[in-house]
Amino acid sequence: MRKKQRAEAVLQELTKLYPDAKCSLDFTNPLELLIATQLAAQCTDARVNIVTKELFKKYKTCEDYAGADLSELEEDIKATGFFRNKAKNIKGCCTKILTEYGGKVPDTMEELLTLPGVGRKTANVVLSTIYGKPGVIVDTHCSRLANRIGLTKSENPDIIERDLMKLVPKPHWAQFSHCLVFHGREVCHARKPKCEICTILPYCEFGNKKIK
Ligand code: SF4
Repeated sequence: MRKKQRAEAVLQELTKLYPDAKCSLDFTNPLELLIATQLAAQCTDARVNIVTKELFKKYKTCEDYAGADLSELEEDIKATGFFRNKAKNIKGCCTKILTEYGGKVPDTMEELLTLPGVGRKTANVVLSTIYGKPGVIVDTHCSRLANRIGLTKSENPDIIERDLMKLVPKPHWAQFSHCLVFHGREVCHARKPKCEICTILPYCEFGNKKIK
C-alpha cells in the first residue's frame, strides 16, 4: 500500500478510535493556549494543566506577563521544567504581542514565529485550535508514531511536518496529529508499543516487522 493510502487509512482508523481527539491543554482564550503550549515543551500536558490552573488566575492579560517580575514568573512555572528560558520567552512574547500586535495573539504562522519562544509546533497548535486553520502539530508522540508507521524517516520536526502535510488531506492535518498523540499515549508507547492489539497494525512498518 502506498504511503498516502496508508496515511489515510490510519486517519480513518484513529478517528474511529478517538472521535474526540483534540488538544489536551486547558485554556479559555488564545493567550492562555499560547502560554500553555509554550509551557508544554519537554513537559506533559497533564502537568502543564496543573500549573496553569493557578497561573491563569494570577496572570490574565499580556500586560500581566509583560510586567511580571521575572523571578516570580519563573517560580510560578517552575514545575514545567526549563523554567528560566520559558519565563524569559513568555515575558518577551507578551511584550511583543503588546507592542507589535495590539495585544492580540496573531493569527498567521509568519507573525507567530516572530514571537520569542514560539516555534512551528506552538504556532500550529494556536492556528488550528483557535483560528481553525490547518496545521500539522509535531510533538514527541507524533514524531515517534509517524516514524514507526513509516510516514517519515526523519527526527527533525520541520521535515516530519512537511512529510505529513504531503500525505494527509489538508482539512485533517490537526486532527491527524491529535489522533497520533492519543494513540501514542494509549497504545504506541515509547518503550513498549502494544502492536498485538493495535488497530493500525496493517498500515504500520514497525509493527509488521515486529510481529513477523
Ligand atoms: S503497530 Fe505497533 S508500532 Fe505501529 S502504531 Fe501500532 S503500536 Fe505503534
